[in-house]
Amino acid sequence: MSDSVLYDLPGEFVSSMAESSGYCDAQAVLPKDDHYIAFCTCGRWHTTVPTRDEGLALARAHTVETDSN
Ligand SMILES: [Zn+2]
Repeated sequence: MSDSVLYDLPGEFVSSMAESSGYCDAQAVLPKDDHYIAFCTCGRWHTTVPTRDEGLALARAHTVETDSN
């Protein structure tokens, strides 16, 4: 996981990053009630997941998709 670009950040911080970037610079998985919210700074991807691991996997898949564009 040393090459991971995933961060645990406050949602407000990531939102401000999204406003200024619009690119897939970072993804975050944040706990919300009994599940997790995963989203990307590009502002075009977010989802809810039951576990943090699943959110990280989906975030990784999202960046793979966008990198190939
Ligand atoms: Zn993205």
